[in-house]
Amino acid sequence: MRVVSLGSGSSGNALVAQAGPTTVLLDAGFSVRTLVSRLRQVSLVPEQISAILLTHEHHDHSCGAVAFAHRYGVPLIADPRTLAAVLAAPARGQAEPLTPGSVERVELAVGQTTAVGGLRVRSFPVSHDAIAPCGYVVSSGAWRLCFVTDTGMVSEPIIEAMAESSLLMVESNHDRDRLLNGPYPWRLKQRILSPTGHLSNEQTSDALLRVLDDAPRWVWLGHLSRTNNTPDLARAHLRERLRQVGLRHIEPQVSPPSVGAVWDSATLWGPAFIAPAAPTAPDSCERPPSADAESLAPAKATRPRSI
Ligand SMILES: [Zn+2]
Ligand SMILES: [Zn+2]
Repeated sequence: MRVVSLGSGSSGNALVAQAGPTTVLLDAGFSVRTLVSRLRQVSLVPEQISAILLTHEHHDHSCGAVAFAHRYGVPLIADPRTLAAVLAAPARGQAEPLTPGSVERVELAVGQTTAVGGLRVRSFPVSHDAIAPCGYVVSSGAWRLCFVTDTGMVSEPIIEAMAESSLLMVESNHDRDRLLNGPYPWRLKQRILSPTGHLSNEQTSDALLRVLDDAPRWVWLGHLSRTNNTPDLARAHLRERLRQVGLRHIEPQVSPPSVGAVWDSATLWGPAFIAPAAPTAPDSCERPPSADAESLAPAKATRPRSI
């Protein structure tokens, strides 16, 4: 399985997971033009996308989804409530008007499992101020990607999903002290810190330390706030916590707002590597004048664009 981050953060989110002829996008929070350009940067073309899986309806995760799905005939997969919300919003970047039924949709209720070509997809609930937010475990054989972003707390379904996965792409949104002492209005700080907000570096480290052990795993930290976090801060915090418990073999990476690292199970350790046993268990979309990247942003002209 090959995984590539096309961009992560409140300016937009999209991740590619690929196994054989099957390629899915997890979230599509960039304009179609940017999505196509970034796919080309990693040697993919839009016609290769088998489906778009959506975690929730917020602009930074879904703004290019409907237009991309319409233009390239790609099905949208999400909880029916999320699909309804995304399809009800104006399809930004879509020149031609959309007619009902012009976008194929596949309902996958939160907690359910489906197959997309050779990939198995399982959704699990997260805690965020969206209509039906979820994360995904995407697997090919014994290789599993866990994609968990935009959640204010880490519940047992998230821990279970992380525990069974090889590559963990997990939100690490903010440094708590930076957020509390930073420029955001108090109301916005409270919403980010709330159980339906976003994960701090500390919360993310706490969760990862519950599931990581001596086994080889790969960790990508994502959705970092430009105002209340830095890549060095997020990475150093987790690295220190890992060192404290002797897990020196795990080297966390940060997924940037642009195209990030590539993870490829075929080339991780060379030809001698044996796959793990199956576990027992920039140019983001144009923004509407009254909306921001996240519904967490306050409805004020002075609101920060990035959280
Ligand atoms: Zn987000
Ligand atoms: Zn969100």
